[in-house]
Amino acid sequence: MTMTLIKQQKTTTEKKLKPKKSSFAYSPVVEELMAFCPKCKTPETVRLYDSVLSPTRKFSQEDGKLYHDCGANEPCRVYRVI
Ligand SMILES: [Zn+2]
Repeated sequence: MTMTLIKQQKTTTEKKLKPKKSSFAYSPVVEELMAFCPKCKTPETVRLYDSVLSPTRKFSQEDGKLYHDCGANEPCRVYRVI
């Protein structure tokens, strides 16, 4: 009977640093997208904060779709900007 030594990977259990109450700041995920309005055919850069449209832009958000406030009935095509 042969014994084979199985090397066990050491699981590094790093102690998670407790976030200090004062220094912990929540930073949202910012996405920059290109919205192409089907009506005026103008590409515009929109910024989403945690998938929520930045309120300063001239777009309205419904069901995750962006609508230009030029009166377009169709939602804008959204492209991801890398
Ligand atoms: Zn438009």
